[in-house]
Amino acid sequence: MGCDVNRAQRITVLGATGSIGLSTLDVIARHPERYQVFALSGYSRIDELLALCVRHRPAFAVVPSAEAAARLRDGLAAAGCATEVLEGEAGLCQVASASEVDAVMAAIVGAAGLRSTLAAVEAGKKVLLANKEALVMSGALFMDAVRRSGSVLLPIDSEHNAIFQCMPGDFARGLGNVGVRRILLTASGGPFRDTPAAELLNVTPEQACAHPNWSMGRKISVDSASMLNKGLELIEACWLFDAKPSQVEVVVHPQSVIHSLVDYIDGSVLAQLGNPDMRTPISNALAWPERIDSGVAPLDLFAIARLDFQAPDEQRFPCLRLARQAAEAGNSAPAVLNAANEVAVEAFLQRRIRFPEIASMIEQVLDQEPVVSLPTLEAVFAADQRARELSREWLRRHGR
Ligand code: NAD
Ligand code: MG
Repeated sequence: MGCDVNRAQRITVLGATGSIGLSTLDVIARHPERYQVFALSGYSRIDELLALCVRHRPAFAVVPSAEAAARLRDGLAAAGCATEVLEGEAGLCQVASASEVDAVMAAIVGAAGLRSTLAAVEAGKKVLLANKEALVMSGALFMDAVRRSGSVLLPIDSEHNAIFQCMPGDFARGLGNVGVRRILLTASGGPFRDTPAAELLNVTPEQACAHPNWSMGRKISVDSASMLNKGLELIEACWLFDAKPSQVEVVVHPQSVIHSLVDYIDGSVLAQLGNPDMRTPISNALAWPERIDSGVAPLDLFAIARLDFQAPDEQRFPCLRLARQAAEAGNSAPAVLNAANEVAVEAFLQRRIRFPEIASMIEQVLDQEPVVSLPTLEAVFAADQRARELSREWLRRHGR
């Protein structure tokens, strides 16, 4: 593996049919001499996955069930495409860790991506991490596995990719040892940035998913609207850069042009700027430490004209406060926060709860579930399951 520097890098894209997956394939297709698709995974959009297989000719495709596999195999045969179809989590882990693979894009949404992302880490792959929930749930185990396997972990989340670009190369020595005072994590504020608290009661899933600057999957769009996404990102930043929660400050920046900043003890503040297009962080991580064309238009500062900043409003967006508390409590608290949020967001998207109830539900589940240490993956999934059960109990209690 990795001995021939001139051959194309073989890439597995987990969550290929999603927003990040499609942007990744767009970048890969611009550089056929550098990258080759080894495997793709999909979940519900099997016809879209078939079209991607016909276009990118991966060796493997992974789907969730035997039924989906049969449908995909029929389509592949009709198209004369030799892609082999695998099923379920075992299939995901297989293509994440296969010896032929150089890099894995971890872009499955939510806890469903944890095992396969971790399989890529344990196999020592270069891991392009979009699936922040995996790191939030199992941060200590995850970072231990990175250190043990020698996996190269590169952040795809635009903020963390920006921070990574603004950090000194030796930041792993500890932020205090490399002159970093704090991380400034920018947030667009989402579609409800200026919505009065009383009106948040009646906002719809469609409004929540209409993000002003980014086009993303539905779950992360709702997380952005509640600002729980920024909370998950705070926890993500603590793990990636070995920072304390108190060293990460959230700054609302409505234009989403600055993707985050690093504040140094000499007063220098380094920022990374760019158009809000995920192909920039994806290209940065794919090619790191080199640079490649991403297809993103150059930034036009004259058209942007101004950059604004404001403090986050934790009264209207309590999810941010809850996430900070979970970050400070550590141990199982972030996994519980994440699981309660996944159940709450699904219930909101199904119109079973109102938008402000996402925070109420998470808060009550966090209050009910004791904070315990999570020394194994089994313990992580057990905490995740308990929190999901408490969340479903909340729904039943409230007649939803
Ligand atoms: P998406 O909903 O568009 O795509 C999700 C992908 O995961 C799809 O390919 C789907 O098939 C797959 N998937 C869903 N449920 C699955 C399951 N149970 N098992 C296996 N596969 C499953 O989401 P997205 O916006 O592309 O986000 C993906 C991840 O990247 C999330 O963790 C998100 O937080 C993160 N992220 C996204 C963006 C963005 O701009 N979209 C930015 C930063 C981080
Ligand atoms: Mg982000």
